[in-house]
Amino acid sequence: MKKEQKFAKYLIDFIDESHSVFHVVKKVEEMLNKEGFKKVKFQEKWKLEKEGKYYVTKSNSAIIGFIIGKGEIEKDGFKLIGAHTDYPTFKIKPNPEITSEGKYLKLNTEVYGGPILSTWFDRPLSMAGRVTIKTDNPLKPKQFLLDMKKPIMVIPNLAIHMNRKVNEGVNINPQTHTLPLLTMIDENIQKDNFLVGLIAEDIDVNIEDILDLELFLYGTEKGTLIGPNEEFISISKLDDLAMVHAGLYGLIDSKVGNATNVLVCFDNEEVGSTTKQGAASPMLRTVLERISIAMGKNREDYYRALSNSFLISADMAHALHPNYAEKCDPTNRPVINGGPAIKISARQSYTTDSLSSAIYEGICKSIKVPVQKFVNRSDERGGSTIGPISSTQLDIPSVDIGNPILGMHSARELGGVLDHYYAYESFKEFYRI
Ligand code: ZN
Repeated sequence: MKKEQKFAKYLIDFIDESHSVFHVVKKVEEMLNKEGFKKVKFQEKWKLEKEGKYYVTKSNSAIIGFIIGKGEIEKDGFKLIGAHTDYPTFKIKPNPEITSEGKYLKLNTEVYGGPILSTWFDRPLSMAGRVTIKTDNPLKPKQFLLDMKKPIMVIPNLAIHMNRKVNEGVNINPQTHTLPLLTMIDENIQKDNFLVGLIAEDIDVNIEDILDLELFLYGTEKGTLIGPNEEFISISKLDDLAMVHAGLYGLIDSKVGNATNVLVCFDNEEVGSTTKQGAASPMLRTVLERISIAMGKNREDYYRALSNSFLISADMAHALHPNYAEKCDPTNRPVINGGPAIKISARQSYTTDSLSSAIYEGICKSIKVPVQKFVNRSDERGGSTIGPISSTQLDIPSVDIGNPILGMHSARELGGVLDHYYAYESFKEFYRI
């Protein structure tokens, strides 16, 4: 197997083991631990050393890994790669049990982010997230990560015979049409607290000790390489776990130079980033300043460090679609396996300017990684990402890039095997120079 396929398989395993944002962060933590990174906590005093490797987590759903450079922070600055840990899904509401006609037991859910709802129908689904458990101290309950692992529910489609226009596009109501079916009701089923009962059994605690739940649905089908030459990656959550994964390996595999290398994985990008663990929060700013303080620097040194820094905001892009070619910009048409795309927008929904674009392109060219450009059609609004939002918090020049994929926000997205390796190589080189 070629190195590109091997690396894409690592990504597939990484995504297949990350069934909630909390599990994404846990997985990243495990990999950093294995590589000798030490955990530091916001609550404690930081003692950092040159060339030391560290990470800090926020709310179990955001993580920042960093390696202190050999140089001086005020001169050599930070080299940052940013990505996001969250992705569109469904969140289970409190008191979720709903019965239908006294026969079916369904779960009440709400939509998280912007999924393509139709792609969630008829798939085996499970749930994962965190459970809060009672302790003696009401201010410090315990958190438990839960992953049911086996398929336990499904969102069934309506038969075409009852919905003849289904192939002409249908309106999907997220309160009534997408509730997952859990089980059939009979006299043996205790329908109140059914879900909590399942969970208590799974994690072996008393129902009364479960204080709260933060659970999300996920599809249990595994990811796979596809295509006659295994050129594509078909899996959920490529946006943006592919960039988390490529950034993580870039950080781990790169030799530390003078700059301090930082990988920041924010949560809540899909819902606007305005949470304590999102890109609009002071989280990253605080971490960078605390690194400076721990290295014995003053506030002016910190601001000088920011001015000598650079951020690659890495979030997936859209590839030219073979069946909807007209949806793409007429002259900038990134394709799968053509290399990472630099994302540009006059409206500044991406942070890229001509200088930061040239810097990223230069890095890629120096290691023979192809680069493409992505711009929205002028009559399509397009999305935004963490780059412009973190710019409101931090004065650091940045570029927005991402690998082009098809079916973004589908329950299964399609990306390129080569692109994933290219992104990794470009990140490793950025951290190295
Ligand atoms: Zn994204």
